Amino acid sequence: MQRLVIVGGGIVGITIAIEIAKKNLFKEILLIEKEKSLGSHATVRNSGVIHAGFYYTESSKKAEFCSKANNLLRNYCVENNITINKCGKVVVTKNEKEEETLELLYKRGVNNGVKLEIIDKKFIFDYDEYAKSYRNFLWSPNTWSASPKELLNKLISESESLGIKVLTNTRISDGTNEEIIDNKNNKIKYDFLINAAGGYALELSKKLGIVSDYSLLPFKGLYLKSKKISKIFKRHIYPVPNINQPFLGIHTTLTSDNFLKLGPTAIPVLSPENYKIFDGLDFGISTQIIKSQIDCFFNNNFGYRDLAFREIKYLLKSNIIKEANKLTNFDLNQIEFDWYTPGIRAQLYDFKNKTLEMDFKMIEKDKQLHILNSISPAWTCSFMTARYISDKVITFFN
Ligand SMILES: Cc1cc2nc3c(=O)[nH]c(=O)nc-3n(C[C@H](O)[C@H](O)[C@H](O)COP(=O)(O)OP(=O)(O)OC[C@H]3O[C@@H](n4cnc5c(N)ncnc54)[C@H](O)[C@@H]3O)c2cc1C
Repeated sequence: MQRLVIVGGGIVGITIAIEIAKKNLFKEILLIEKEKSLGSHATVRNSGVIHAGFYYTESSKKAEFCSKANNLLRNYCVENNITINKCGKVVVTKNEKEEETLELLYKRGVNNGVKLEIIDKKFIFDYDEYAKSYRNFLWSPNTWSASPKELLNKLISESESLGIKVLTNTRISDGTNEEIIDNKNNKIKYDFLINAAGGYALELSKKLGIVSDYSLLPFKGLYLKSKKISKIFKRHIYPVPNINQPFLGIHTTLTSDNFLKLGPTAIPVLSPENYKIFDGLDFGISTQIIKSQIDCFFNNNFGYRDLAFREIKYLLKSNIIKEANKLTNFDLNQIEFDWYTPGIRAQLYDFKNKTLEMDFKMIEKDKQLHILNSISPAWTCSFMTARYISDKVITFFN
């Protein structure tokens, strides 16, 4: 085989390139990235939490990948001296209804092969002095955090040593089943194409002839980060989420280097890179997003209007702190926080069924493979996703 082209130089594109390069299938592997460097979007703008895999419904790709990926990523970080925090996580409840969801998450975790315990709240002090729960809590010892930047740098150096070619400052804007075309009208031929363009993967898939019932709804994750290292909490503390939405609710996390983060929010925005008010606006994509937002807002599809009203309040620091305070007996107002680099979850919206797509979505067509809905926990899952995609490519050529 001559040339494998991967569009999108985030963690998903890079790990796929590495996995396939190790198989020596292609004469050339070309990784194409629109920015001046690799991995500057969701790959580093995230919580850095290595998820264990208990949120995801049976038979989803997330359920299939996450617990195995958790092991792979933790081992990779340890073996490569990437800064990690082995803190583990507790999930706490506020009322009887949340206790039911906690049970459900526990069952999902067990089904998904996750190391997980459900424990009476009288023991919570042994896990985290300040966490509080209604009756029980979940204990997930393998939910660690790692440094996304260190991980990215290690993967970049591994890809260099495997001879993977990287083309930066190149945005792919169109294509056919033989070649793709960049924004300067250069044509690049491929024998196989992988679309790993993160928040722009859906748009690119449409340009390459993929028809689907999806549009995009992006949500901005704002964070507060403690000004100083914080040793108050021992664990990540998460609430029970609304399981009909893919977000986990405002939580407290410990970074790999022991700072405390609160967040992320899920505030509706207008493009996959709309980090600040006018950043990343694009007439075509933003117009479609606004149409979906209006539909979801007026019909309250999947609780979108309620979510929007709740999330908009988090533009104020004090409201994020107030929400996080519900998880602990420690008053977080005592800690000084700064706003921290936000990230955007560009979420697929199924406009026919009026639901959010909760799972990763892989679409194959001829010599193309499109990775859509690369949302959390895609960072944790990247090594498993890479294996899955690599197997698909091998099968294609056999
Ligand atoms: C706020 C937030 C918190 C999160 N927390 C966690 C967490 O704790 N744990 C976890 O597992 N996951 C988490 N995630 C999810 C995780 O970060 C992402 O799922 C993952 O990083 C996706 O990686 P990616 O490579 O698919 O996307 P990206 O990192 O966005 O990479 C895609 C790349 O494609 C490039 N690109 C796009 N279009 C084109 C084009 N046309 N031509 C060329 N290049 C293009 C982009 O510039 C970008 O570099 C979080 C995400 C967010 C936003």
